[in-house]
Amino acid sequence: MTSFIDVRDAEKCFSSSEVFGDVSFHIEEGEIFSIVGPSGSGKTTLLRCLAGLETFSGGSVHIDGEPVTDVKANARPISLVFQQPLLFPHMTVLENISYGLKFKHIKKKERLARASVFLGKVGMEKYGASYPHELSGGQRQRIALARSLVLSPKLLLLDEPFSSLDKKLREEMREWVRTLLKQQGITAIFVTHDQEEAVMMGDVIGVFKGGTFAQIGTPHSVYEHPATPDVAHFFGDNW
Ligand code: ADP
Repeated sequence: MTSFIDVRDAEKCFSSSEVFGDVSFHIEEGEIFSIVGPSGSGKTTLLRCLAGLETFSGGSVHIDGEPVTDVKANARPISLVFQQPLLFPHMTVLENISYGLKFKHIKKKERLARASVFLGKVGMEKYGASYPHELSGGQRQRIALARSLVLSPKLLLLDEPFSSLDKKLREEMREWVRTLLKQQGITAIFVTHDQEEAVMMGDVIGVFKGGTFAQIGTPHSVYEHPATPDVAHFFGDNW
C-alpha cells in the first residue's frame, strides 16, 4: 500500500550544481512531517519543487495516489505558507483569505462565507474588515494560514512560518498551529532550522543534511538514537 504523500528519489540541480538528491519520504494522512536542517541545505527549494514553483530534476511525487510532478502549480492540491506572510496590502483580511477561491470558480458570496469560517478557525473573527498593515506579525501569519487552509489543500507546506516572530510568540504560535492542524486533520510538511521547533511540531522528523535525509524517524527516535555522528552533533547544538 502506498502512503498518502509519497516522494521518491527526488533531486534538484541548478545548472550543474546539485541542491539535493536521493530524497525519498512518505507521509500518512493527517501527519505532520518536520524537516529540519541548517540554513542553505535545500529545504526551501524542496518545498518550492513540491509546490510546483520550481521543477524537480528527477524523481516522483504522488499525493493520494495521483502523480503531481507534471501538474501546474495552481492545479496542485498543495498550499504553501511562506516565511513572510505575503498578504495583499490593498485588500481587507477577509478579501485576502477568500482571494484564492476565485480561481476555483466559486461565487463571491460563497467565497466570503468560507473565508469567514476560516477567519474564525484562526481566532481572528474581529479582524475581517481590517487591512494587513493594521495587524501584528503573528496576526498576519494567522491570516496567511487561513488563506492556505480555505483552499482545502491535501498537503500544506509551512516554510519557517515563525521565523519573523520573536521567541515568545514563536513558542505560542507553534503550539497553536499544531493544535489547529491536528483538529483539522491536515497533512503538512513543516520546515525549520530549529531542532526544538521540529521536535515540537512533527509526528515524524527528517534531518536534512548535505542535500539528503540523514535520518527520518519519530522525534524520540531521532533524538535518542541519532543514526550518524552528524545527526547527533546537529541535535546536540543549540539545545
Ligand atoms: P534552506 O531553505 O535550507 O536555507 P535553500 O533551499 O534556500 O536552503 O537553498 C539551498 C541552496 O540552493 C543554496 O545554496 C541556494 O543558493 C541554492 N539555490 C536556491 N535557489 C536557487 C536558484 N534559483 N538558483 C541557483 N541556486 C539556488
